[in-house]
Amino acid sequence: LEIYGERRASFGPNIFVESQWLPFKSAIDSHLHKTWSATSIINGKAVDTYEVDGQTNQLDKQTVLAPWNHEVSAGKVTYANAEVARQAIDVAVAGQDVWKNVPAAKRAEILRKIAELYEENYAELMALCQVEAGKTMQDGIDEIKEAVDFCRFYADEAERLDDVVHEFTDLAGKQSRQVYKARGTFVCISPWNFPLAIYTGQIVAALAAGNTVVAKPAEQTSLVAHFGAQLMYQAGIPAEALQLVIGAGDVGGALTAADNIAGVIFTGSTQTAQRINQSLNDHAQTSGELPVFIAETGGQNAMIVDSTALPEQVVRDAVLSAFGSAGQRCSACRILCVQEEMADDLIELLQGNMAELSVGNPLYAATDVGPVIDADAKHGLEAHIERMSAEPTATILAQTPMSSSSVVSQEKSTFVLPTAIEVKSIDVIGGEHFGPILHVLRYQARDLNKLIDAINNTGFGLTLGIHSRIENTVEHIERRAFVGNTYINRNQIGAVVNVQPFGGCGLSGTGPKAGGPHYVARLMQLSSETVNA
Ligand code: NAD
Repeated sequence: LEIYGERRASFGPNIFVESQWLPFKSAIDSHLHKTWSATSIINGKAVDTYEVDGQTNQLDKQTVLAPWNHEVSAGKVTYANAEVARQAIDVAVAGQDVWKNVPAAKRAEILRKIAELYEENYAELMALCQVEAGKTMQDGIDEIKEAVDFCRFYADEAERLDDVVHEFTDLAGKQSRQVYKARGTFVCISPWNFPLAIYTGQIVAALAAGNTVVAKPAEQTSLVAHFGAQLMYQAGIPAEALQLVIGAGDVGGALTAADNIAGVIFTGSTQTAQRINQSLNDHAQTSGELPVFIAETGGQNAMIVDSTALPEQVVRDAVLSAFGSAGQRCSACRILCVQEEMADDLIELLQGNMAELSVGNPLYAATDVGPVIDADAKHGLEAHIERMSAEPTATILAQTPMSSSSVVSQEKSTFVLPTAIEVKSIDVIGGEHFGPILHVLRYQARDLNKLIDAINNTGFGLTLGIHSRIENTVEHIERRAFVGNTYINRNQIGAVVNVQPFGGCGLSGTGPKAGGPHYVARLMQLSSETVNA
């Protein structure tokens, strides 16, 4: 907590402490009833229309409803189409000469200004995250802190990499040097589950590297993204350097299939990453271009618990990892693997702990679990619970009801009740279920290797929790597991920028790790020069 507090202390005094949220809450509440709007922003101008054959047409405009109460309107969103996407790419490609020639120190200064503006506007950003994305107070706070951390860390990286010069000398004494340079235009495609943090992290990393950006945030959280972009321009990002395209997957597809892009940074589901990869390959066949593709994708994350672990600690960490943010974190624990000897006791504790969760209106400071993002997500998760209920080898262990103090209607919202399901094998689970569902699996100590192999065989490799007091066991699991981030005797969520660089392997992503020392460097090219002196 100390490290966490230290790195993020700039965002309000002691906001980590629940009892001290209240002064902030009234500032946030003052924004709750605002009606926000979002449009694409090309070359600094809001885009409501598009031209075809000399004719001006209106873009599609829709009202967005709060996921926790469909009687509350979050705002109005104007969705772009392929024509707007094409314009955005053209402006960003042309803008490259302007932005790459801005000195690294100046780019860093602007990024630090974005961090400051995010902090100054925390109340409106919080209100937006709560109303549009259904975030709880704690999740909203974490969201803004992470976005702020990305701005400051990648600003430092812009300056650090600008100073990096590798020098080489051959046998005849000839000198060569190697420096980092911008690559070009990056398309940044982000998910709704971190509507400000991941969206901002992708953009500021690419801008830090001297690249121009076309950003396409998730369609579910366009309002948060639009307000974030306004603050970026206010901080001094030139209109040519950042284009915002508000739209769904089809528009994302148009952007990744465009000519002249240097790369794509994508965070989202593994299936979408595979589609984008295919589209980049198809495009390469005709254009000959080879853009960089960075994908940060899904997980099927396990927590392995042996009989030396402390049961109360395990349950606290598993519940936070599985149900925090309504399970809508890529790092979330999906499978709690418990050594047989302690399984009965642990399940009983888990049931008790889940009964204490407060599920409901995310605007209440006491709420632990808010809604899932939309009706599609809700139906998919409920269908999985139903399938598991009918599955002979699975047993529903616990399901937390809606909190009685929470005045929301389940019909007019998208809540999914936190559910724990005992399963006999990992295979029965299927892929990633992105919501508040925890699977529990018993294992025998002698089968530990089989368990690790079964986790590896899911193909995903994002996070792994280990609870054990035996160092050899911890080391053995770490060596055998194929995974990006391991957390020992703690929860497995909430990676902190420049403290726990984050990202997976296999079906979970390509790397480099976000918030780590290789991320901005990957968005740049190393240029070598040899002088014949
Ligand atoms: P998603 O794949 O449905 O959408 C992500 C983004 O891709 C959205 O902006 C969407 O509009 C866009 N998109 C959809 N189809 C596209 C296409 N054909 N071409 C281009 N863009 C397209 O994912 P989601 O539901 O928004 O997010 C949840 C997923 O993200 C989960 O699988 C989660 O594990 C993953 N995630 C991973 C990380 C990580 O760091 N590894 C972080 C957060 C979320």
